[in-house]
Amino acid sequence: MQMRDVIIIGAGPSGLFAALHLPQHLRVLILEKSSQAAVKLLMSAKGRGNLTNTSITPRQDYQTSDSDFVEAAFECYKVQDFLDFLAKQKIEVQEEAGSRILLKSWKVLQFRDFLIDTLRERGINILYEQELLDIIPGSSSFQVKTDKENFQSKKILLASGTKSIPKIGSTDIALQLAKKFALWYTEFYPALVGFETEKELAILSGSSLNARGELYCNKKLLYQQFWPILFTHRWISGPVVFNASLYLKNLLKNPNNQISFKIQVGQEEITKRFLSYLWFKANKLSSYTFTTNITGVRGFDEAKISGGGIKTENLTPNFELKSIPGLYVIGECLDVNWKTGGYNLQRCWTSAVVCARSFW
Ligand SMILES: Cc1cc2nc3c(=O)[nH]c(=O)nc-3n(C[C@H](O)[C@H](O)[C@H](O)COP(=O)(O)OP(=O)(O)OC[C@H]3O[C@@H](n4cnc5c(N)ncnc54)[C@H](O)[C@@H]3O)c2cc1C
Repeated sequence: MQMRDVIIIGAGPSGLFAALHLPQHLRVLILEKSSQAAVKLLMSAKGRGNLTNTSITPRQDYQTSDSDFVEAAFECYKVQDFLDFLAKQKIEVQEEAGSRILLKSWKVLQFRDFLIDTLRERGINILYEQELLDIIPGSSSFQVKTDKENFQSKKILLASGTKSIPKIGSTDIALQLAKKFALWYTEFYPALVGFETEKELAILSGSSLNARGELYCNKKLLYQQFWPILFTHRWISGPVVFNASLYLKNLLKNPNNQISFKIQVGQEEITKRFLSYLWFKANKLSSYTFTTNITGVRGFDEAKISGGGIKTENLTPNFELKSIPGLYVIGECLDVNWKTGGYNLQRCWTSAVVCARSFW
């Protein structure tokens, strides 16, 4: 069996970007479960690619139990470093509402293909339809078992993401390994996802309102934001709701918790349709506030990310497991998450580069 220097598990944005930053003399192989690379990246901003955000303040922004670790990683690879990388490759971007950085002339598909083509030119292959089943540490290397073959490598980068949207190949192998290796972790939960509501909202179904959304647990405010809220007949979604879902975590699992969502709609948003929801005929309302209990969250099938993951307390500053030297964990597998708007891809770029640079 051929010995590799590095095997990367997962050809998502974290795995591809790490491969790009590894020293070029290393024999690197990427194993990918699906038949395509980086499908979640392709979904970013409906194919436009919201790759980062200029207002990231790592210590305050990311949900993590170890903000020192996250801040230190961002000290080594900042948002500006990623923007410089794009500029060097002549990939044009533009800043849009909410400090979001989006691709300007390229689609995200072209960006994904640029990453793959550059890796191919460097002799780094992606083996598709290889599902990692197990990693077995040896005295000086690791055995990597997939559903098709066994591989041997001196080092492993685990970049297998989380279990949100399983139909595109996502798995929870990262947490299976965390359990096997007795690491600290938080169970995955669906995040950046819609809420199911107790109130019947059918009449607003299909509409989007700029409104203040406030999430409460037992009357305690957990999150608030002013941004669009989208309505379907039985659930609400949109950026405010998605971001609020990060705070819901597993709170709904406790039947004693009363979870509610308050929506404050300003005058300019009170349309005829909204008035018909209220059974009002007169257009004299200056604002309207209503609250609905949250009865559930939409599941992993729809969640843009999973909250939870492997805790960074397990890692050295180079993203290497303290208890298993040679095994590294990057990207969404880690318990470091934040709201929509480029924050989650930036934590992929940062963890990938900081990890890869430690191989130089
Ligand atoms: C619809 C949608 C829109 C999004 N929009 C944005 C956005 O605009 N901005 C933003 O910042 N973030 C966005 N995100 C989140 C962002 O895409 C993810 O956080 C990011 O893709 C995580 O990258 P990753 O490489 O760590 O994991 P992933 O992208 O999940 O990649 C992991 C890879 O590992 C593979 N894999 C999994 N298990 C195995 C296994 N057992 N063996 C082998 N391979 C395996 C998977 O098939 C996948 O290719 C969006 C997500 C979704 C779903």
